[in-house]
Amino acid sequence: MKLNRRRFLKYAAASSAVATAGALFPGASFGSWQKLKNNSGIISWQKAPCRFCGTGCGVLIGVSDGRAVAVKGDPNCSVNKGLCCMKGYHSVQALYAKDRITTAKIRKNGEMVEVPIKEALDLIADKIKKTMEKHGKDSVAIYGSGQWTIPDGYVASKLFKGCLGTNNVEANARLCMASAVTGFMTSFGIDEPMGCYEDMDHANVFITWGNNMAEMHPVLFSRMLANRKRRNNVTIIDFATRSTRTSQAADKSILFRPQTDLAVANAICYEIIKNDWVNWDFVNEHVSFHKGKTNIGYGTQDHFAFKDKAESIDFEEYKRFLEDYTPEKVEKISGVSAKNIKYMAALYGDPDLKVTSFWCMGMNQHTRGTWINNLVYNIHLLVGKISTPGNSPFSLTGQPSACGTVREVGTLTHKLPHGVVMNEHHRKMAAEIWDVPLENIDPKPTYHTVEMFRALDRGDIKFIWIQVTNPMVTMPNLRRYRDGALKDDRFVVVSDVYPTPTTDVADVILPAAMWVEQEGMFGNSERRTQHFAEIVKPPGEAMSDTWQIIEVARRLGFEKQFPWSQDEYIGKIWEEYRKFHAGPKHEMAPYTVLKKRSGVQWPFVDGKETRWRFNAKYDPACTNGKDFDFYGKKNHRAWIWARPYEPAAEFPDGEYNFWLNTGRVIEHWHTGSMTRRIPVLHNAVPHSYVEINPEDAAELGVVNGEMVKIISRRGEVTMPASIRGRGVPPRGMVFVPFFDESYLINEVTLDAFCPISKQPDYKKCAVRLEKA
Ligand code: SF4
Repeated sequence: MKLNRRRFLKYAAASSAVATAGALFPGASFGSWQKLKNNSGIISWQKAPCRFCGTGCGVLIGVSDGRAVAVKGDPNCSVNKGLCCMKGYHSVQALYAKDRITTAKIRKNGEMVEVPIKEALDLIADKIKKTMEKHGKDSVAIYGSGQWTIPDGYVASKLFKGCLGTNNVEANARLCMASAVTGFMTSFGIDEPMGCYEDMDHANVFITWGNNMAEMHPVLFSRMLANRKRRNNVTIIDFATRSTRTSQAADKSILFRPQTDLAVANAICYEIIKNDWVNWDFVNEHVSFHKGKTNIGYGTQDHFAFKDKAESIDFEEYKRFLEDYTPEKVEKISGVSAKNIKYMAALYGDPDLKVTSFWCMGMNQHTRGTWINNLVYNIHLLVGKISTPGNSPFSLTGQPSACGTVREVGTLTHKLPHGVVMNEHHRKMAAEIWDVPLENIDPKPTYHTVEMFRALDRGDIKFIWIQVTNPMVTMPNLRRYRDGALKDDRFVVVSDVYPTPTTDVADVILPAAMWVEQEGMFGNSERRTQHFAEIVKPPGEAMSDTWQIIEVARRLGFEKQFPWSQDEYIGKIWEEYRKFHAGPKHEMAPYTVLKKRSGVQWPFVDGKETRWRFNAKYDPACTNGKDFDFYGKKNHRAWIWARPYEPAAEFPDGEYNFWLNTGRVIEHWHTGSMTRRIPVLHNAVPHSYVEINPEDAAELGVVNGEMVKIISRRGEVTMPASIRGRGVPPRGMVFVPFFDESYLINEVTLDAFCPISKQPDYKKCAVRLEKA
C-alpha cells in the first residue's frame, strides 16, 4: 500500500505539474473570461475587503450577470481611500481559472475520484470518529489560516476544542505573527496594536524594521510616501538586511547583519538613556522593568518545551544590562556604524518628532521574535512615544484575517475566543457560550504548528483537516513534513480552491467557496473588522469552510451546537462570537453595523470606534485615572524587558557560507496558488529566483538568469539567479521568494523557532551555492 500510494503521488505530482504549467500560460486559464463578450454590460458594485494582504483595503466588486468582472478601490474605506495595489485590482480574476476545484474527491484504490460532496463529508465525520475511538481525542487536528474568515475559525475552534475536546487547532498565522502576539502579551498583557493607520498622517519619522512595505503593504507605503510629499517634515528610514524597493524610496537605508537587530535595538536604548532623552514622567508613571530567561534554545528537536520566567528589575539594573550595547560594541556585531545607531536613537529621542515604527515578518519570523518585538516597544516606552497620534510601534500583519480569525477568535492550540485554555474562568465562559460540558475543554494546550506537523510525522496525529492554506509549500524543513503527511495510516483532508502540493497529499479534497463567494468577516492589522456578503455564487459543489465544518459537526452529533440555517448562519455565528468580547477592552460591533460599513475598529463602545488604545483620551477601557492606562498588565504598566542579543540557530560557516533569507514579491500572494492564475500577475513575475549580490555572482561565475543550486543541510533547490533585480542582498546573503511551487525553497529552510512564540525563522539559515 505504501509503495502504491507513493508511486501514485509521484505520478500525480508530475501530471499536476504539467497541468499547472499549462493552466498558467496567459490566456489558457481564462478561456471562460471570454464569456464577457456576451455580457449585458450592467454592472452593480458591492463592498468587500481585499483578501491579498493584511492591510485590509476596501474594494468595490463589480458584478455583471452573476459574475465578478471588475474591482475598484472603495473611496469610503479609510484604509485605502479608493486606492488598490496590483493584486487588489486584479483580485476577482483569481475566482475563475480553469482548474478551479468544484467537486469533492476521495482517494479510492490510490486514485482520486470525484464523489458527491455529501459522501466526502460523511467520510470525514466517520474518519474523525473512528480515529478518536482508536487513538484518542488528540489524534485528530485541524489546521487553518489567517485567510479563514472569522466564522470559519470560530466554528473550527468550537467543534474541535468545545465538542471533540482536543486543542489540536492551529492556523498558519503561527508562521507569520505569533511573535507579534507574544510581543504584545509580554510587553502589554493584551494583544494587538495600540495605534491605527491614521498614525501615518501624523508621524514625522517612519522606521521600517526589516519590513519591505513597498512590496508587502504597498497601499500603506503609498500613504506614507504621500505624507512625505504633502508635509515637508517627514523622514523614512529603512532598517533591513537587504536592499529592497523600500530602501530605494526611503530617505536613508541602513543595513544590519541578520539577527543583530536585537543588539541595535538595545544600543538605541543605551543612547537614549545616555543622552537623557528618557521621558521620565511617562516612565515613572506607566512603565516597569523586567528580565526573563536567557540562552533559551531554538526548538529544532521534537517535544521542545520552554517556559519563560519574568523577574522584576529596577531601572539601574536595566541600565547596567545595556552597558554591553554601546553603539561602538554593537557596530562590531551588527555592521551598523555607531554613527547610524546614534542617528536612529536621536530620532526616537527628539521630543519634537513623532515616530512610528513598522514591522512584519522580518521581526516576527525570528528565533528571538518575541524579544525583538519587546525591544522595539522598549524604545517607544523609554521616550513615551506610544498610543498617541503619530507615535506608534506598529506590528503589521501579513494575512487578511490573521488578526481577526487567529488572534481574536483564538485559533491556536492554547487559545480560546476569550483568553486561554489554561484559565478555568475562560474555559467556563467558552463552555457556557458553546453549550458544552466544561470538562470537554482540555486545560492543556497540545501542539503549535511545527510540533503539529512533527506529531503527524511521528504518528501521534493520524487525521488532519487543512483549510485555506498550503503547508506542503510553506512548512520550513519541508521534506520531513511532506514525508510525514504521506505516511500510510495518516488521513489528510484539504479544503481549497485550486490544486496545490497540499492537495497532492490529500485523501479527501473538498471544493471551497472563495472570498466573495461566501459571506464572512476579516480582521485587519489595525483592529478593523470588515464584513463582506456573498457577492457571487460558488462554482459546482463548492461551499464555505464554515459550512463544511458545520456539516461535519452535525454528522458527529453536534446539531445542538451548530443549529443555524444556511441563509442566516454568518449573522448568528457573529452574534454568538461577540459574546466572548463583551466589555470595553475588546467590544466588537454588532452584525447590523458591520454590514453597513466598510470596516469597524474595535473596541467599539457606545457606537464609537477606538483609534488609540491605552490613551484615556480615546480608550474607554482606561480606568486608572491617569493619562495612560496599560490595563492588560495587573500593575497597569507597560513592561520594558532586558532581552539580550543571542545568535541565530544556524549561521554561515566554512561549508555553508551564505545566509538564506526568504519572503515575498508584490505580485504574488503567499504560495501563488491564486495570483499565479491571474495572467497579468503571472506574466509580471512568472517564476521564483534567487537574488545574489553582484560581487558574489561574479565570484561564482554566475550571470543573470543562470541556474544556481542552493544547498543546505536539509535539501537543495535549483533556480534562476537574479542579479541587480528589484532586491539586492549584501555580500554573503541570498534571497528567495517562496511563491513558486516549482521551486520549493522550504526544502532548504530550517524549522527553528522562537521558543516563546513558536514561530519559525524563515529569514535565516546557512546555505552554499553552486553553479548548476
Ligand atoms: S495593499 Fe493588500 S489589501 Fe490593499 S489592494 Fe494590495 S493586496 Fe489588497
